[in-house]
Amino acid sequence: MNTDFSTILRSLNLKITPKRIAILDILMNESSYLSPEEIWTRMKKQFRSVGLPTIYRNLEELSERNIISKVTHPNRQLYYYFCANRSHHHHFVCLSCRNVEDINFCALDELRREVKRKHNGKVISHILQVNGYCRNCLNKEGKDNEI
Ligand SMILES: [Zn+2]
Ligand SMILES: [Zn+2]
Ligand SMILES: [Zn+2]
Repeated sequence: MNTDFSTILRSLNLKITPKRIAILDILMNESSYLSPEEIWTRMKKQFRSVGLPTIYRNLEELSERNIISKVTHPNRQLYYYFCANRSHHHHFVCLSCRNVEDINFCALDELRREVKRKHNGKVISHILQVNGYCRNCLNKEGKDNEI
């Protein structure tokens, strides 16, 4: 059991259950985003009777508390990703190989000003996911084109 997870879960008043720890463990040892079904397949090795709804529920609870992040793919499939970076940032998501990179840039201040000035509103939160192709995939594609 990873003590870091226990600390995170405890600080968020989430009960430390073997399943939650296992889900976090799977996601943390994976550099790309995973679908609930893929997590389920791996979980079944450890918890033979675990059902997919349990996986969905746990993933939802963990993402509601920002322990893991949701990745919405244009293919409409939902994925989850664990990022150790706890400061505010966004993700550059490769649609091909599922690589995820941190973007340590956020135009929140400008958005806030814009919303205040032009819409007379107040920003509470925002969601930003940048989709594209990572440099490895672009290189591969370039090589393919050369042949
Ligand atoms: Zn890629
Ligand atoms: Zn990140
Ligand atoms: Zn932001």
